Amino acid sequence: MFTNMDNNELDKYAQNIIDGMQLSDDDLRKMLLINDSMELEKLHYVARKVRDHYFGNKVFLYSFVYFSTHCKNRCAFCYYNTMNKINRYRLELEDIRNICKQLKGEQIHMVDLTMGEDPYFYEEPSRFAKVIDIVKEELNLPIMVSPGVLDDKTLEMLRGHGANFLALYQETYDEELYKNLRVGQSFSDRIHAREFAQKIGYCVEDGLLTGVGNDVESTIISLKGMAKDNPQMVRVMTFIPQEGTPLEKKVQESNLSELKIISVLRLMFPNRLIPASLDVEGIEGMVYRLNAGANVVTSIIPSDSSLEGVANYDRKHEERKRDPKSVVEKLRTMGMEPAAQSDFNRILGVVA
Ligand code: SF4
Repeated sequence: MFTNMDNNELDKYAQNIIDGMQLSDDDLRKMLLINDSMELEKLHYVARKVRDHYFGNKVFLYSFVYFSTHCKNRCAFCYYNTMNKINRYRLELEDIRNICKQLKGEQIHMVDLTMGEDPYFYEEPSRFAKVIDIVKEELNLPIMVSPGVLDDKTLEMLRGHGANFLALYQETYDEELYKNLRVGQSFSDRIHAREFAQKIGYCVEDGLLTGVGNDVESTIISLKGMAKDNPQMVRVMTFIPQEGTPLEKKVQESNLSELKIISVLRLMFPNRLIPASLDVEGIEGMVYRLNAGANVVTSIIPSDSSLEGVANYDRKHEERKRDPKSVVEKLRTMGMEPAAQSDFNRILGVVA
């Protein structure tokens, strides 16, 4: 598709996207089928052009606090599924306060509070509200909550306590695949929670998993499914097989599909937030993902932290380099830098 285009033509393609051109299914198919490395680089080039038009060399940074790894669900891809016999933790409020203290003064735009669907918080959602209160009190930064599927009343209550963003990944809009991944969970309840959250003023993040049985057609279904509600943030992550789960033996695919999809997301959602997660390939992987068109770095944790990530490529690594300073240092080597907090607040509609 881009093979014979020179830089002028690629620039023109990027401009067409900025001017509102929509990708057809056939465009998506052609992009997702790219295998040639020169053509792939051209796709990334167009994606970077579009990103730079909206965001320049500025990047947003989210720190990640996985405060409970307990979960009642059985997602086939997830290390924390309830059937897996692993050590789990639930942080005390004081632990959370201490993590916030470590993050004070760092270049972080938002704190992502993540948990599994932990019955302790689902039975008494005000416990979750207390976590938000503490983070607000200590850091006064926007807050993303990634708590699983909450009911409308709880979403409203957490919004009242200052939650700004809801992250809730469908993982796939291919309903057959969904049944195999999010075992025993409602497809439509998940969509409803995001839609309701948007209605009451949250920004929302949707995401898909790749390398998990999604072929090109299934991926197109997912991309179009995500586009329906035009979330403020859209993500893709490569599946990493997790010990003790039903998909433990599945062979991990390369990052090729994820990088392609990041670029495609940039062309479908030109002015949206698209993350480069440190959780898949660490700080070197962050570079590839930003070069594919991402503009956010997620899963940043304080230095020396033993907090869990979601996919945890580095669970057994000694040096994780996922702290804010290492990230900013690396960004600068790429000619990029953290955006101003006011730019981020504008996207969120937050008055500082
Ligand atoms: S993906 Fe989330 S909801 Fe599913 S098992 Fe893991 S922690 Fe639980």
